Amino acid sequence: MELPFAEPYKIKVVEPIRRSKRQEREQWIREAGYSLFQLRSEQVFVDLLTDSGTGAMSHNQWAEIMTGDESYAGSASFFKLKDVINTRLDMPYFVPTHQGRAAENLLFSALIKEGDLVPGNAHFDTTKGHIEFRRATAVDCTIDEAADTTMIHPFKGNINTDKLEKVFKENPREKIPLCIITITCNTSGGQPVSMQNIREVSALCKKYGIPVFFDAARFSENAYFIKMREKEYATHSIENIVLEMYSHVDGATMSSKKDAIANIGGFVACRDKALFEKISMYCILYEGYLTYGGLAGRDLAAVAQGLIEGMDFDYLESRIGQVAYLGQKLAEYGVPCQLPTGGHAVFVDAKKFLSHIPKEEYQAQTLAVELYLEGGVRGVEIGTLLADRDPVTRENRYPELELLRLAIPRRVYTNNHMDYVAACLGNIYENRHKITRGFRIVKEAPIMRHFTVRLERL
Ligand SMILES: *Cc1c(COP(=O)(O)O)cnc(C)c1O
Repeated sequence: MELPFAEPYKIKVVEPIRRSKRQEREQWIREAGYSLFQLRSEQVFVDLLTDSGTGAMSHNQWAEIMTGDESYAGSASFFKLKDVINTRLDMPYFVPTHQGRAAENLLFSALIKEGDLVPGNAHFDTTKGHIEFRRATAVDCTIDEAADTTMIHPFKGNINTDKLEKVFKENPREKIPLCIITITCNTSGGQPVSMQNIREVSALCKKYGIPVFFDAARFSENAYFIKMREKEYATHSIENIVLEMYSHVDGATMSSKKDAIANIGGFVACRDKALFEKISMYCILYEGYLTYGGLAGRDLAAVAQGLIEGMDFDYLESRIGQVAYLGQKLAEYGVPCQLPTGGHAVFVDAKKFLSHIPKEEYQAQTLAVELYLEGGVRGVEIGTLLADRDPVTRENRYPELELLRLAIPRRVYTNNHMDYVAACLGNIYENRHKITRGFRIVKEAPIMRHFTVRLERL
């Protein structure tokens, strides 16, 4: 008999979580203005809001926390992290930052000016925010297959090189400061980018003299998909795949709250010394001195250890296997999801799930509220609220995909929790026609409104 899969870790510390009654949840979510971001964590039973900074650190990471060096300059923990970035990502220069968006802020301060274009695959919301805040434009060149949630494609994060070349051809070189490959592509559903695509995009950028950077938050998960889905890499180690991936780019921004399995942290890495020096100036201005970048020494050390653990094949198999497990359970209940499931999250297709609710009433947000009411499960809307208004016309932007994201924290929940979440959504799906109306906005911020929006039931 073939032995079943089991997690490559055991649990040493637990944190109690509490179930609540539907009546309580109805009051809490009303008080929260129907925004899941406004809930208190005690009001949530299974928290799938994000996989960002919510992972369980290993005992080796906690050991690094205890031995972290808090020296202002020249911290040993900084050099531990530098060693990992130099040798395992083969990036000669880096500055630490307090998280991923801070890395974006430093890199973009050095590169992007008003009127610029930044092409890539479906930019992450903070990335787009930092681009648009500088009055530049993010150009989405993702392959069309990514917008069809039912189409099985192994690398739905890929960039369409024809679309990319069109941007390069139609605009002067000076207006395109960089191209960004987001691995895995969060916005298109945690979907990976193939090595072949990375290679082709890199070659195209080189041809037009445009630097190419990774938004590398989930680079290890992306490497796992390359190993599993790209034939020629089946026998390669994750570590070698990671090295080859980085060999094709000029640098990367990283949110260490993702694949470095740390609670906080980020960095910018690059190959060009002049760029590094420019970024260093912004680092000191915005984050802190170059050997801590807004972090405690202990956090730098936890990130260093987490980067190594995040590239472990058995860990990745269990991590991505759990995401696939939830996707499989949901499929059994007939719940429409983005297929195949991504690396860090299952994305429920709210447009299909609540096709009888108009998009003007925020289908994915409506589903997110229902899921919370059903079982105290917190997911997040990746749809119209997140897409913000058009910066020029101030009209709502209706994205092609209207998704409810269930992001799974690393090493935190068991498959029993996944069964629970799937059953909640199964119940809602069975009774979906009883949901007759969605929401309207009563209060919103001018940019990245989804964090603070307040809504009213229609
Ligand atoms: C999380 C994330 C970011 C931003 O990182 P923070 O640490 O949350 O600031 C940028 N890009 C991608 C793809 C991400 O997933």
